[in-house]
Amino acid sequence: MKMSVQVKLPTALRPFADGQESVKVEGKTAGDALDALFAKNEGLKKQLLTPEGKLRNFVNVFINEDDIRDLKGLATPIKDGDTVLIVPAIAGGSTATETGLSKEELQRYHRHLIMPEVGMEGQKKLKNSSVLCVGAGGLGSPLALYLTAAGVGRLGIVDFDVVDHSNLQRQILHSTESVGKSKLVSAKERLNALNPNVEVIPHDVRLTSQNALALFKDYDVIADGTDNFPTRYLVNDACVLAGKPNAYGSIFRFEGQASVFSTQDGPCYRCLYPEPPPPGLVPSCAEGGVLGVLPGVIGTIQAIETIKLIAGIGKPLIGRLLLFDALAMEWRTLKIKKNPDCPVCGKNPTIKQLIDYEAFCGLKEKPVSTIPEISVEDLKAKLDKKEKFVLLDVREPHEYEIAKIPGSKLIPLGELDKRFGELDKGQKLIVHCKMGGRSARACQFLASKGYDATNVTGGIHAWSERIDPSVPQY
Ligand SMILES: [Zn+2]
Repeated sequence: MKMSVQVKLPTALRPFADGQESVKVEGKTAGDALDALFAKNEGLKKQLLTPEGKLRNFVNVFINEDDIRDLKGLATPIKDGDTVLIVPAIAGGSTATETGLSKEELQRYHRHLIMPEVGMEGQKKLKNSSVLCVGAGGLGSPLALYLTAAGVGRLGIVDFDVVDHSNLQRQILHSTESVGKSKLVSAKERLNALNPNVEVIPHDVRLTSQNALALFKDYDVIADGTDNFPTRYLVNDACVLAGKPNAYGSIFRFEGQASVFSTQDGPCYRCLYPEPPPPGLVPSCAEGGVLGVLPGVIGTIQAIETIKLIAGIGKPLIGRLLLFDALAMEWRTLKIKKNPDCPVCGKNPTIKQLIDYEAFCGLKEKPVSTIPEISVEDLKAKLDKKEKFVLLDVREPHEYEIAKIPGSKLIPLGELDKRFGELDKGQKLIVHCKMGGRSARACQFLASKGYDATNVTGGIHAWSERIDPSVPQY
C-alpha cells in the first residue's frame, strides 16, 4: 500500500519546485517519496541527484526527526502522515549543516522546522538572537526555560538573589536542592541541562540606572520579569532609550497582565501608567500573595511574544494590554495608544537619561515621621509586664490564620475606616501588620481620628525572627 507524506523543502530549494514549501507525495519508502518528488519537479532532480541518479552527498534526508542514514537509507519505509525533510548539508560529513544548525539541533527543533511560520529561517533567527531576562523568579522561570528550549542563541539573566524555600511554589527554574544557592547558578545549571546549545549569561547585579543601558545594549529583546515598580519603570525607560522591545508581564494574586512595549511605533509602559501608585497602595506579591501557577501563564506569554518578535511572525501584543483573571478564567485585550506627551517616548520627552527610580516611586520619602514606633523587643517587654494597651493587627484574616501574636485584635486595614469605632479612644493602641507598612498607614489614619497609635517596626515578621521563632513566617 502506498503511503502519503509531506516533503518539506528548505528555502534554498523552493525556487526549483515552483516556490512550494512542501510537496505531497506517495510511496512506500524514502526513495519512493523522493522519486515521486523528482517526477513532479524536474529542476529539483538536477539539484539533488548525480547524473547516475544517486543522492548528492550534500543532501541529508530526515524522516520526522531521524536521519535516514541512521535508518535504512533510501529503503527506509514511510508511514502515512510522515514528514520528509530535505536538508542540504556541507559535503564531507561535517556536523554543521549549510543551515548553520547541527544535526542534533535539526532533531531538537524538528517541531519548529516543520511549521512554515518558523521553519529553518525562523529557527536560525532564534539561534542568532539574544534575550535578556530581568529576574530569575516567578515570571523569569517559564520565560528562561521556554526560550532555552526554543533555542535562542544567548540568554542573559539579571538577578542577585538566592533561592529561598518560599520561591519554590512558583519559581520552577529552581529546585529544593538549590535553596540557599544563587538563583543565577541554579538557573544556569538547569538551563544548560535543558539545552546546551544556548549560551546562558549570568549577570550577578542589581539592575540600576548606572548599569541598565550598558546591559541592554547587547540584547535584541528585553523580557521584564521584575516584581517592583522602581525596576519596572527603570526597565521601561532603559528599553525606550536603548531602542529595545520589552516583553512585559506582571502578576498579582490571581491576575496577570502582558504586553509588548517600546517598539518603534508602539506605546511604552509609561504611556499606559505615567506614574506609579503611591507606595504601599498596591501590595507586592511577597505581601499580597500570588497563585503559584499564575506566573507560569504570564511568563509563558512573554516567551511567546519574545519568539514572535525575534522570528518576525504573527501579531505581537504591541498597542494591546492582555489581562488575565485566573479566578474568573477570563481574558481581555485592551487597546493602548502611544501617548504623544509621554515623558519618555513622546514627541518632546523630558526623560532623556535614566533617573532615580526609588525616588520617582516615592520610596525615598520618609515615612510619616509623626508616627511613634516601637521595636518588637519593647513590645515583648510591655506584654511581659502586662501593661495596658490594645495590640491591633491590621492584616487580612487569612494571614491572621497563618500566624498571630497572642492577644491581638484583628481589623484589616481595608475595614478600618468603617470599624475604628470598635476601638476605645482612652486606650493606647499598638498596631502591627506583616512588615510594618500597612500598620504605619493604619496609625496615620487612627491618629487623624484622635487615637494614640504606635507602629510596630518590622511587624510580625520581625517578631518571628527576633522574639518567637515558633510564629510561622510566610
Ligand atoms: Zn511612552
